[in-house]
Amino acid sequence: MSDLDATQQFLESLPELKKGQRFSFACHPGVPCFNACCSDLNLMLTPYDVLRLRTALGLSSQEFIQDYTVFTMAADTGFPLFRLRMCDDSRKSCPFVRPEGCSIYPDRPGACRTYPLGRATRIGDDGSISERFFIVREPHCKGFQEEQNWVSGEWLSDQGLVTYNENNDRYMQLLARQKDKAEPIQAGQSNMVALALYQQDNFLRFISDTGLLGRLDMDDERKQAILTDEEARLHFAIDWLELVLFGENDSLKVLR
Ligand code: SF4
Ligand code: SF4
Repeated sequence: MSDLDATQQFLESLPELKKGQRFSFACHPGVPCFNACCSDLNLMLTPYDVLRLRTALGLSSQEFIQDYTVFTMAADTGFPLFRLRMCDDSRKSCPFVRPEGCSIYPDRPGACRTYPLGRATRIGDDGSISERFFIVREPHCKGFQEEQNWVSGEWLSDQGLVTYNENNDRYMQLLARQKDKAEPIQAGQSNMVALALYQQDNFLRFISDTGLLGRLDMDDERKQAILTDEEARLHFAIDWLELVLFGENDSLKVLR
């Protein structure tokens, strides 16, 4: 079973937070368990997580990957996966946790934002995404004793998750499409996926060196955005990988 399937199965074993149902929760330096959850994590970073983190840290993608991640390969798709590397201390602390809290809070990964909810997504035959939420109620977490209460949509927007989920869903659609093929991509393609999804700085060099944009039918405004804005480049990367891996993408056509 792939990591993503295992996560999905774990979430679906938890109590579901139905649409409109409220839950009480708050996390702040005053809770007795403050920082208790920021260690010994199996935290998979999405391409958008990596982009936000390395930009916030002012690192090149190569530096970030080397210093902060552990690399694995998804057996079912052959896609590269990067986990956040925990510190080598007795608690296996997250490298970003400090006594006063998360040192990269505005750019923390989507999974940290979503907690204590878990979000399970399902991709329909037409590519549409439906979502369900589950409550991850761990014994050490005292945040549930706080009075503030939420429905899932309020929590998502309070935690700045809307942009994260949009980006991550696009990535999940790409993964699901490869999974449907029931065979992993080749090693060379895996390197290309790693470059396009996780190394926006090096992918820009690749785009320039190969003259890639000149071979695609797209307007100048989008070209300019791809060259100057890393988020736009990540969107393009996913479209382009669909074109390369599956031979078609709704928004990209090769010039003849
Ligand atoms: S990134 Fe921040 S919120 Fe997430 S585990 Fe690390 S310290 Fe905690
Ligand atoms: S365990 Fe729960 S309440 Fe405590 S710091 Fe972590 S998320 Fe916040």
